[in-house]
Amino acid sequence: MLQATTAVLLALSVGASQALGHAGCGGHDIARRNLGGPIIAAAAVTDEASAASSVDPVEECMYYSYQPVLDVVKNFPTVWQTAAIVPGDDEATALFATINATVNAKYPNVGPKGTHNGDWTLSKNYDAKDPDCWWTHSQCTTPAADSGLKADIVSVPEPETWGLGFDDGPNCSHNALYDYLRDQGQKATMFYIGSNVIDWPLQALRGIDDGHQLCVHTWSHQYMTSMTNEEAFAELYYTRKSIQTVAGVTPMCWRPPYGDVDNRIRLIAESLNLTNIVWSDDTEDWQVGTGGVTQDDVSKNYQLVIDKAGKGTYATHGPVVLNHEINNMTMAEFLTQYDKIKAGFKYVVPIAAAYNWTTPYVETNVTFPDFMTYTNQSSGDSASGSASATDASGSPTAAASGGSASPSGTGSANSSTAAKSAAALGVEVKGAAVWGVAIMLIGRIALSMW
Ligand SMILES: [Zn+2]
Repeated sequence: MLQATTAVLLALSVGASQALGHAGCGGHDIARRNLGGPIIAAAAVTDEASAASSVDPVEECMYYSYQPVLDVVKNFPTVWQTAAIVPGDDEATALFATINATVNAKYPNVGPKGTHNGDWTLSKNYDAKDPDCWWTHSQCTTPAADSGLKADIVSVPEPETWGLGFDDGPNCSHNALYDYLRDQGQKATMFYIGSNVIDWPLQALRGIDDGHQLCVHTWSHQYMTSMTNEEAFAELYYTRKSIQTVAGVTPMCWRPPYGDVDNRIRLIAESLNLTNIVWSDDTEDWQVGTGGVTQDDVSKNYQLVIDKAGKGTYATHGPVVLNHEINNMTMAEFLTQYDKIKAGFKYVVPIAAAYNWTTPYVETNVTFPDFMTYTNQSSGDSASGSASATDASGSPTAAASGGSASPSGTGSANSSTAAKSAAALGVEVKGAAVWGVAIMLIGRIALSMW
């Protein structure tokens, strides 16, 4: 008995520590996000164009008032607090009642695990066999067949193709990164935090207008399996609603912070028509500056993924790689790596393009290029093919209509552009990278943080 208990504890602690050590998605580091500068009553920013005009991170992160959000903010939970259904929100209340009944019927004995900040002490007796397919315990991504739940997306079906996404945005100081992506004709999948969308709506608006795919990354960026059914519902529902309100599209995809998901949370997300996208490879970029992790370490992590392509690991599919727009360093690091990624992989594509999700939003008039269109291919060189309407993991069904958004070319990156954009983030690119300026900059921003 003692042995069995010890084994369970060991299994959990190994699983959890691996997960936390490999947490990705901001890890515990979300508090280091770029909060912006001091509140300035009359910032010059009035619309999307003015918000996109500066590449000075301090200027970009001056708070501004945006009337469309001021008008509706009372209909959302308090930013950066655990979400709950807003009193008087009859639509959310009714939808949750239906979903909650389903969840309670299916998982009557699966409750919240641990705490919102990832203390799993209370879950130390969790069954080592992992009946809930709990990612944080075992990195489980494929629920048992009899659960009826879809498998998480961890890779893309296209060979030698890097599935590109950025977590934790919209970051107030993302203009240099977004300018760079625009100049390269590179789209990505952006996993937005609802509280950031409310705080920085014009930055979110830029995300959709630049042609990126928008997905949900919860309201307050905490551990989802620790949430009650209502909290988990509200974290997803109000983030989705914030993106719909600000950017005019209703996402059909999400990513759990820290990867923390189990079958109960999967069911709640699926009930909201959100496909779960996790990852196969982690750059651990958010860790720079924590626990002795250096920029060089992160560059090596990128290189490990690139090297896998050279070794044939991605001959039949591609990785979904975890990157962040959480701070200036993570964004600048991507700029230094982009040329190498493009050299190592045949294609670098957003997840929607990789899966031919030509209508990735509830609004079916908003279309997205399929893989063939995105990669400018004229004949069949695609694993899934543009005719594919569904993918193996049962993700959003592509409509018959092809993507109408035109890919803006896949011109190769050039170092001078990267250097220019990195310089705007306060980073000098010299070989691998020189980070002194960025560190000074982060230090400056940190002084204004709580
Ligand atoms: Zn995250």
